Amino acid sequence: MTDTSPLNADLHCHSHFSDGVLDPAQLARRAAGNGVQLWSLTDHDELAGAAQAGQAARELGMDFVAGVEISASWAGQTIHIVGLNVDPQDAALQAGLASIRDSRVARGREIGQRLEAMGVPGSYEGALRYAANPQSLSRTHFARFLVEQGVCASMQEVFDRYLDDTGPANVRIHWSTLEQAVGWIVGAGGCAVIAHPGRYTYTPVQADALYDQFRQLGGQGIEVVTGSHRPEQYRRYADVARHYGFLASRGSDFHAPSESRIDLGCLPDLPAGLEPVWRQWGF
Ligand code: AMP
Ligand code: MN
Ligand code: MN
Ligand code: MN
Repeated sequence: MTDTSPLNADLHCHSHFSDGVLDPAQLARRAAGNGVQLWSLTDHDELAGAAQAGQAARELGMDFVAGVEISASWAGQTIHIVGLNVDPQDAALQAGLASIRDSRVARGREIGQRLEAMGVPGSYEGALRYAANPQSLSRTHFARFLVEQGVCASMQEVFDRYLDDTGPANVRIHWSTLEQAVGWIVGAGGCAVIAHPGRYTYTPVQADALYDQFRQLGGQGIEVVTGSHRPEQYRRYADVARHYGFLASRGSDFHAPSESRIDLGCLPDLPAGLEPVWRQWGF
């Protein structure tokens, strides 16, 4: 009998090369243990884990595509564009990501200064202890430090009180443009995917403009089932995918065993009637 069960694809997660806590081999084992068949590691603005992840996946008999989650600025908000099945050696992509990572250092210092002014000293140095290097420094590392120090009881409380996009200690910077992010991904042979669209607070008119512009730039996909969406958002973004003709993606956005709501590979299937991003790769 032919197996018609949907592929267990998990195409969004983070290692300690960005703001996750596990190394790529640990993630690969966790993914395989949870039944993932097609996997991608998508660190923020970073491809350094791709080789280790690919090798570990091969050893575990899991299919793998190299990925990345690029930070971009669009209409006054930060958005994330996932690049899937990119060539991790592509020079323009690597240079673009390096330029984004550079901006994290000064931004991290400024976040530290703002927290100090709000009565939380030492957070830049404290957050750095959680980061692979200053170029990978993320709000997530600050959040871990604030929980460690007992300033907040949970990561969510840190974001709610200090660090979410409108929070008093968040420092807004210009990441990359949408044109750059999509251009780097497509130039590296990859498929560009709008990450967790349900997290952005655009008006309907702005969201429509984002999807149109993304498509015109060569973007093809949108995350429908992600650890960042609630079940009603799976349905909503399935409608968006159908309406705009986007390929649908699925990924846990797993960061850490104690922090992530949804584990690697433990997501519902894509809603019926969508074209999965992986179909173009022969899965
Ligand atoms: P950064 O790239 O430094 O701006 O950090 C963004 C990261 O912080 C995201 O990738 C998430 O891992 C985490 N994050 C952002 N907003 C929230 C939130 N409201 N609650 C929990 N984690 C968040
Ligand atoms: Mn993250
Ligand atoms: Mn993201
Ligand atoms: Mn992510």
